[in-house]
Amino acid sequence: MGDSPPTSDSMDCDVVVIGAGGAGASAAITAHDAGASTLIVEKMPHPGGNTRISNCSWFCPPAGTEEQAVEHIDALCLGRTDRSVIEAYVTAASKTKEWIEGIGGQTRITHFLNIRYPQVTHPSWPAFPGSAAMVNHTVGAEGDTNPSGERLWNLLSGNLDKRGIKIITSAPARELCSNDKGEVTGVVVECGGKRVMVRARRAVVLTCGGFEYNEKMKEQFLPLMPFHAVGNPGNTGDGITMAGAVGAQLWHMGVVVGGVGVRVKEYAAPFAISYAAPGFIYVNQGGKRFTNECGWESHFLWQSFYAFNPKRPGYPTIPMFGICDQETLRKGALHVGGAGLNLAYKWSADNAAEVAKGWIVEGGSPRELARRIAVDQAVLEKTIEKYNSHCAAGTDPDFHRARETLKALGTPPFYAVELWPRMVNTMGGPRRDASARVIGENGRPVPRLYSAGELGSLWGHLYCGGGNVGEALAVGRIAGVSAAGEQPLY
Ligand SMILES: Cc1cc2nc3c(=O)[nH]c(=O)nc-3n(C[C@H](O)[C@H](O)[C@H](O)COP(=O)(O)OP(=O)(O)OC[C@H]3O[C@@H](n4cnc5c(N)ncnc54)[C@H](O)[C@@H]3O)c2cc1C
Repeated sequence: MGDSPPTSDSMDCDVVVIGAGGAGASAAITAHDAGASTLIVEKMPHPGGNTRISNCSWFCPPAGTEEQAVEHIDALCLGRTDRSVIEAYVTAASKTKEWIEGIGGQTRITHFLNIRYPQVTHPSWPAFPGSAAMVNHTVGAEGDTNPSGERLWNLLSGNLDKRGIKIITSAPARELCSNDKGEVTGVVVECGGKRVMVRARRAVVLTCGGFEYNEKMKEQFLPLMPFHAVGNPGNTGDGITMAGAVGAQLWHMGVVVGGVGVRVKEYAAPFAISYAAPGFIYVNQGGKRFTNECGWESHFLWQSFYAFNPKRPGYPTIPMFGICDQETLRKGALHVGGAGLNLAYKWSADNAAEVAKGWIVEGGSPRELARRIAVDQAVLEKTIEKYNSHCAAGTDPDFHRARETLKALGTPPFYAVELWPRMVNTMGGPRRDASARVIGENGRPVPRLYSAGELGSLWGHLYCGGGNVGEALAVGRIAGVSAAGEQPLY
């Protein structure tokens, strides 16, 4: 979907939405239904953003559990998010199922629980208070095996079409315009080689995603580098720059979710890697274990890379290596497919094709494997021996891996994959309040400017799976209603 570019140098509507993902579509549908003429501008030739390629699991607490959900999210945010913002999110999220069904979608509860290693579980933080309220849904009928963002996007874009809400594609917003009262009055959009002024009689809503593809911002704000993204390449932090230029306060700039991935020259984005059985370890460039491989929440597995050696500069674990034996490799594909940019590639069930391509390195013995990945041979051999002795003893005094995950690496050949930090999405951006108003450095709302979605997400420290699409859909609707409720400027 995408509409023809504007023919004049200026356009008018009540509400201009910047970015056509889940938050933008939800905001636009809601603003339209509240009586505002609405237009979306989208930077990429194809709309949908991260939402379209996500796993489409969204948070919607069951009726009566809202207080628990607030308590849970508050605990995850470690006091970095105003409680009123969390409360508004939860209240709106509790109605998302009803809203999705109201616009013609089918919904069902979805669970992440699986038996892969490291494990992906839901709720992400079961030991935190209120976790029972963190229930996720997806779009689609029972029996749909692949809960996909495409289904959600089709539903949203069908609803935009039905309402006649235009998305102007290949039209990056470049700068916000303000009047002498500091009110945001529109946005300059680059379109068809021209700069087009899009005036907003009521408000502008920023829903242009995170900074997954802005290397400078990643270098400045994220705790490690390189951090390779797997989502929509249009998410380059433009909303952060534009909001900053009109005085917005930023928050949560260092919060990011992601795991580990294999980079190959044939594909731009890394492939997410997890093992079908627990017989694997991670080693650093020195050939040593450095973490409890099975002890991380899946969205924060990237933190395992954040281990430094006080005696040596640089990142000793970027890249690191995942090491397993033949028995584990044969248990199932290291990459189980799913969302992201590499959907087209079908990873082989026994990993044989990827061994043949050299994406997975084989060695007849620990020493041969070490030689092939340029790691000290004696050290890797000793690391595997030591790990195997922990497995025999049923305890891991080094990193306290759970007994049931202590499976020895015994059957040659041995295999290594080079692993890099793999980013799902960032959370940082302009701070917002419970009505989705962007807050300025002076602590007051920037007049007529709203935001929703992962741009300035409320997740202030930890994150619960389903919370981002959940936020896009819920806070998108809050922003749409608030923006439509502004008095027209003319
Ligand atoms: C592989 C993957 C799987 C995921 N799975 C889940 C999941 O199951 N559950 C969950 O909760 N979260 C998940 N997430 C995260 C979630 O998808 C996103 O955080 C959420 O969809 C963001 O929605 P959004 O509308 O804020 O941004 P997006 O959907 O990314 O939309 C932003 C849009 O703005 C556009 N844009 C950027 N700059 C400009 C500009 N200057 N002018 C105009 N347009 C611009 C972008 O091109 C993009 O289309 C996943 C993410 C990925 C990458």
